[in-house]
Amino acid sequence: MSNVTQLSPGTWQISHPFQGEGEIVGSYLLAGGNELAIVDPGPGSVIESLLASIREAGFEPGDVTHILATHVHLDHAGATGSLVKQMPEAQVYVHGLGAPHLLDTTKVVASASRIFGERMKSLWGEIEPTPFDRLHVIENGDRLNVAGRRLEVHYAPGHAIHHVIFFDAHSGELFAGDAAGVRLPGVDYVRPPTPPPDLDLQAWSETINLLKRLRPDVLYIGHFGAIKAIVPQLERLHEKLYIWGEFVLSAMRDGKEEAEIIAMLIEYANPELLQAAAGDPHVLPRYEIATNYPMTVQGYMRYWRKKHPERL
Ligand SMILES: [Zn+2]
Repeated sequence: MSNVTQLSPGTWQISHPFQGEGEIVGSYLLAGGNELAIVDPGPGSVIESLLASIREAGFEPGDVTHILATHVHLDHAGATGSLVKQMPEAQVYVHGLGAPHLLDTTKVVASASRIFGERMKSLWGEIEPTPFDRLHVIENGDRLNVAGRRLEVHYAPGHAIHHVIFFDAHSGELFAGDAAGVRLPGVDYVRPPTPPPDLDLQAWSETINLLKRLRPDVLYIGHFGAIKAIVPQLERLHEKLYIWGEFVLSAMRDGKEEAEIIAMLIEYANPELLQAAAGDPHVLPRYEIATNYPMTVQGYMRYWRKKHPERL
C-alpha cells in the first residue's frame, strides 16, 4: 500500500512507518504557486520515508520551501533540524513558545532519553537543532501565504502550550495537529492525547470551541488522517478529556499511585476501544503508539497537582 494519498487539489497525506505500523504517524504535504510545504514532518526516524513519499507525490524534497509545525513534540517535529540541512530553501514556522525547543534540542533530548532510554534512537532518530536563521516565530492571527494558499494561524493550547492550528478558510481544510484528538482510520473511537507537561483542560476546551467556530469542512489530524464528521469528533474529544480527567482525579483522591491509576485506566478504557474496533485486538497497540496510557495518566496527574491542587 502506498504511503501517499492525495486528499484534495494541492494536499497530500503521508503515512510514515512508525514502530512497524502505518497510518498512525504522518505528515501533510501542500503544493502550489511553485512552493512546497510540509505540515508536521514527523520524527527523525522516518526521514527516509518522508523524502521517498515527497518524491512519490511527484516533487523533489530539495524544493520544500516551508516546514510548518503544529507543535514540537517529537512525533510531529523531531525531524525538523535534520531536514533543513537537506532542504536548503526550507524555512521553519513554529509558535514562539515552541521555538526554543527547535533551536536548542538538548532539553528535549535529555527528557526523552529519561523516558525512552535505549529505544531513543530507534524511535526518534536524530534530534538536531534548527538554525536560528531558518526559523520563524508565528502567533495567533498570523496569515501565511504558503504553497498557493492562505493559512490562518490560530493559537490552540491544551495538548501543548505552544500548539497552533493552520486553517485554510478558502478550501475549509484545517490542519489540527493533536488539538482535535486521536482517531485512527477504521476505528470509531476518539482518545484524548494528554501527555505531560503542558496538558490544560480549560485551555483545551476553549481550543475545541475555536475549532467548532471556524466551521472547517475537514480536519486533518496528526493521528491520523482526514475527519469530516467534525462536530462529533470534537464533542467526543471534549467528553472523554473530562471523563478521563475526573477518573484520574478521583483515583488520586483515593490515594492511588501512578502505576495503579494507569492499570485502572487500562481496565476501564480498553473494553470500550475494543468494542469500537469490533473486537480486533490489534487496535490496542496501535492506539498506544499514537498516545499511550502511561503518559496519559502522567499528564493528568501533573495537571491536577499544578493547576487544581484544591481538588486533590
Ligand atoms: Zn503532541
